[in-house]
Amino acid sequence: MNESGHLLRRAAEHAISYRESVADAAVGATETAAALATAFGGPLPVRPTDPAAVLEELVAAARGGLVATTGPRFFGFVVGGALPAATAAEMLAAAWDQNAFNGVLAPAAIAAETAAGGWLKELLGLPASASTGFVTGGQEANTVGLAAARHHVLEQLGWDVERHGLAGAPRVPILAGVERHATIDRSLRLLGFGTEALLAVPAGPDGAIDIGDLRRLLPDGPAIVCLQAGNVNTGACDDLRAACELVHERGGWVHVDGAFGLWAAASPATRHLVDGIELADSWACDGHKWLNVPYDSGFAFCSRPQVHAAAVSYTASYLVGSGTTAAAADFTLESSRRARGFAVWAALRELGRDGVAELIERCCRLARRFAEGLDAAGFEVVNDVVLNQVLVGFGDDARTERVIEAIQRDGTCWMGATTWRGRRLMRISVSGAATTESDVDLSVDAIRRLAAAA
Ligand SMILES: *Cc1c(COP(=O)(O)O)cnc(C)c1O
Repeated sequence: MNESGHLLRRAAEHAISYRESVADAAVGATETAAALATAFGGPLPVRPTDPAAVLEELVAAARGGLVATTGPRFFGFVVGGALPAATAAEMLAAAWDQNAFNGVLAPAAIAAETAAGGWLKELLGLPASASTGFVTGGQEANTVGLAAARHHVLEQLGWDVERHGLAGAPRVPILAGVERHATIDRSLRLLGFGTEALLAVPAGPDGAIDIGDLRRLLPDGPAIVCLQAGNVNTGACDDLRAACELVHERGGWVHVDGAFGLWAAASPATRHLVDGIELADSWACDGHKWLNVPYDSGFAFCSRPQVHAAAVSYTASYLVGSGTTAAAADFTLESSRRARGFAVWAALRELGRDGVAELIERCCRLARRFAEGLDAAGFEVVNDVVLNQVLVGFGDDARTERVIEAIQRDGTCWMGATTWRGRRLMRISVSGAATTESDVDLSVDAIRRLAAAA
């Protein structure tokens, strides 16, 4: 084996020992940011370093600064782990170094995306004719979906936004729930609409929009409505069927932000939460959250492939109406691109339809186990646990903050804080494929012990 072979083998060994010990390690980082800055810092090296030495330096510097999100007891934000086959595929994707720009440059990468895209649409209950862009995550997927919406809605108003821009364009009403994800606002900003263009639709106590309010606020004619499948705090989903029917009756476009919640469609136990999902016009979903694919991995789906390409492709002018087949790069905001399809394909092969459904059901069941355990311990579970998200209060805001800090310092498990309806709360997200019942029980015990001391 040559030097580079030994190096890759050594990297694999490091990866193996990390994964084999991650379940027992402290979940949060154990080094301070300052210590990590020192470990990685120093002057720019003048001379080359032996690659084998670089690898050992990297491993030594990162140790203590790695957060065990692939382990079984990380419940912060909405963060999935990384399935074995998906991780291995990602390692190969790095070694193969394919540029998934198009099928000439990376035929295998595009074939994997095409196959995986079809499987994803089937699992998520989306139209088979929809286009799929393999993007960086929910943020890019929201930007792409809203760019398609912008193209379509303005075209209906007789305005070519790709040619003329937004200056002087007809005003487009944009509506989204008050509890929308912050990435929607950033996408609207980047697309030139500005956040002021957004009309917030009031939400009920669970964070899902009130359809009566949407009916009252939505004007007749072309408009963009952002719905949500899976609120980051409560897991609640908007009534997609009622909202899509209403918006389409009035001539608007529906974009669904379903970064993690769209996966409810993949299990018979939760499918009802996203009933009507197929009626929307564009969808944003993540692979790196609930599907447990390594970062970064997201999907931008659009019911009208030509609109999708016209909005974000740089070959759009000759694509539209010309019958030219769209390429992978026509559906994302990137030009050169990592081959994200390999890991997604591997994850879906590893799990199969039943495995995906089981993963979704298991996470929901474990979220309910958290809620029951913490409720039995006398803490306040604030939300109705419909999916994989649990909100917990430990009394006033200050005490809740103290408990969360103690949990993060302790290292048994990791939960973050959120503000929900004006209160500071602990948020639990069960999105990792590695979590078991005993991980939940161990975590509930730790929370009980730490809360008693706080
Ligand atoms: C996570 C999330 C996003 C953003 O997704 P990224 O993958 O972090 O870019 C958008 N919307 C919702 C509802 C999310 O949960």
